[in-house]
Amino acid sequence: PAPGAPAPGRAIEVPGVKSIIAVASGKGGVGKSTLSINLALGLRDLGLKVGLLDADIYGPSVPRLSGVAQKPELVDGKTMLPLENFGLQLMSIGFLVEEETPMIWRGPMVMSAISQMLREVKWGPLDVLVVDMPPGTGDAQLTMAQQVNLTGAVIVSTPQDLALIDARRGVAMFQRVNVPILGVVENMAYFVCPHCGGRSEIFGHGGAHQEADKLGVPFLGEIPLHMRIREMSDAGLPVLVADPQSAEAGAYRAVAREV
Ligand code: ADP
Repeated sequence: PAPGAPAPGRAIEVPGVKSIIAVASGKGGVGKSTLSINLALGLRDLGLKVGLLDADIYGPSVPRLSGVAQKPELVDGKTMLPLENFGLQLMSIGFLVEEETPMIWRGPMVMSAISQMLREVKWGPLDVLVVDMPPGTGDAQLTMAQQVNLTGAVIVSTPQDLALIDARRGVAMFQRVNVPILGVVENMAYFVCPHCGGRSEIFGHGGAHQEADKLGVPFLGEIPLHMRIREMSDAGLPVLVADPQSAEAGAYRAVAREV
């Protein structure tokens, strides 16, 4: 399809949203959610109106990352108003269910929850909606990639071989359903010691860049493994909010510029 034109058979249009970027990873725990919120903030810093949709129904993390957790208000009985913080519009399945509720959503139920968050939320108007996808390349992910009118996908990986194999699967999944790959980000690319400032390449380094080159997709940048990213994120303050002048924040902002 021409850029911007909906691909045939894409069922879900999201009212009020100009472009939708999926942030995906082949497996969990690689920093996909942390990248999603910081990417959203980096795009905000470029002057765009940005929303963040937490579609990771198995482990929603936007409530923790954004420090926001109340139930969204309803307008006209069923349309939800997104919550707001840091100048971002936010929606997460985590706003709708208690944290302790077991996530026993399966197959079609997962898709219907996601579709509700896309269609029945009064977004915007937004320039960009960043979607924090569920990790992996199973049915729910494929259905979402197929049915939502995605502008493109960003794939997050850590440098280890195993993570890269999964990242390759993620790239293949989006390509199969004709979603453009905006690029690959290497997270935890190197460790900066908070005491001496020295740099260690714990998981090796540069693997994701090489993989992107091999696959012929853009490389969007690398994010260091940094204590502050973890500490601040867990406290509901993404590093781009907590410490916007830091090198870590700069790394996320550079990725937003590349996207
Ligand atoms: P995913 O969404 O892929 O499961 P998260 O974004 O939830 O991963 O990150 C998993 C954990 O790793 C979180 O505790 C997060 O704070 C931490 N983390 C992610 N990226 C970094 C990084 N670059 N440096 C330090 N900690 C990180």
